[in-house]
Amino acid sequence: MPELRKDYFTNRLVLISPERIKRPTEFRVAKNTKSTPILSISPDCPFCPGNEDKTPPAELVLVGRENSLLKLADSESERVTGWTVRYFPNKFPAVSPDSETRYNDPPLQSEPAFGYHHVMIVTPKHDASYFSLPTEQWVDILATVQDRVRWLYSKKTVSYVSVFINSGTDAGASFAHPHLQTLTLTRLPPLIQEEAETMHRDMTELSTCSMCKVLSIEMNGPRQILQTDNFVAFAPWASTHAYEFWIFPKRHETSFLKVSQKEIEDLARMLRATLGGLGATLSSPAFNLAFHISSEKKTTKQIHWHLEVYPQVVKWAGLEKGSGVYVNPVPPEEAAKALGASSRREIAQMIGII
Ligand SMILES: [Zn+2]
Ligand SMILES: [Zn+2]
Repeated sequence: MPELRKDYFTNRLVLISPERIKRPTEFRVAKNTKSTPILSISPDCPFCPGNEDKTPPAELVLVGRENSLLKLADSESERVTGWTVRYFPNKFPAVSPDSETRYNDPPLQSEPAFGYHHVMIVTPKHDASYFSLPTEQWVDILATVQDRVRWLYSKKTVSYVSVFINSGTDAGASFAHPHLQTLTLTRLPPLIQEEAETMHRDMTELSTCSMCKVLSIEMNGPRQILQTDNFVAFAPWASTHAYEFWIFPKRHETSFLKVSQKEIEDLARMLRATLGGLGATLSSPAFNLAFHISSEKKTTKQIHWHLEVYPQVVKWAGLEKGSGVYVNPVPPEEAAKALGASSRREIAQMIGII
């Protein structure tokens, strides 16, 4: 029986409609698998080692040297080689630090899109997959994200730093080489604003964090996927995407900048296991991953930070686009069962049980 569910925080509505999955043409698993042979380095890929001069100079390059990690930077004339992670300005940015657009009042309201748009190459290996990226590589990526988010929030025009991954063409990725992006905004994006307002209201009226309350329900419940020492992954109650899952720190924490090295290592394990589980469950689907973090600017409301993963297995159509009501043919309880089993298998493989 279909059910209309409302998101914990926002006004998004989701029709959980398992009946729809029975329609033969309704549910197709998108595959990232390529028919051409995959190379460790692709000569045409601007993100591959050897092609560093095809991107703008990197502002941060991680290089491993004798058990330590150096933070270096390219110069206009010389590029750092032998890197593990590279971070540079997007060649085709969606926002710009020197936008000259005018401010306009409603109904044709507009303002300059001030901001910084960067690309992070998360591995030197062209054929690496997010579904099997080693835990140690995730540690380097997450530490670099934290470093850059801190740096971006120190900029005057930045109210919010959006951190996201597009993996696979169905998820909007233009390049196969695994990468991540950061993009800054001069105001809180609507989804974060809605979450922050709900949390702020509950904090003020009930003296509780609404997300901590959700965690107490979802932890050990039918939608839980996996727990580590510090994190819990679960399929949200009103998942807008089939097999969507969220990863939350168990401890109430609003600032991603305060995440410790130990927690980064734990989150890296969680990502390795859950993305590995997602890849195994759905034959490596296209997906998006977004960080939901608090603004570090004092004037804005805070959220309990977390990650959200949206597999792209069912296309949004007329109802979703036209009304903001989402149809999800896979009940989150079933998604959690499947993702939980395969994520636990990944953990067992990681620690060598199977
Ligand atoms: Zn490449
Ligand atoms: Zn909380």
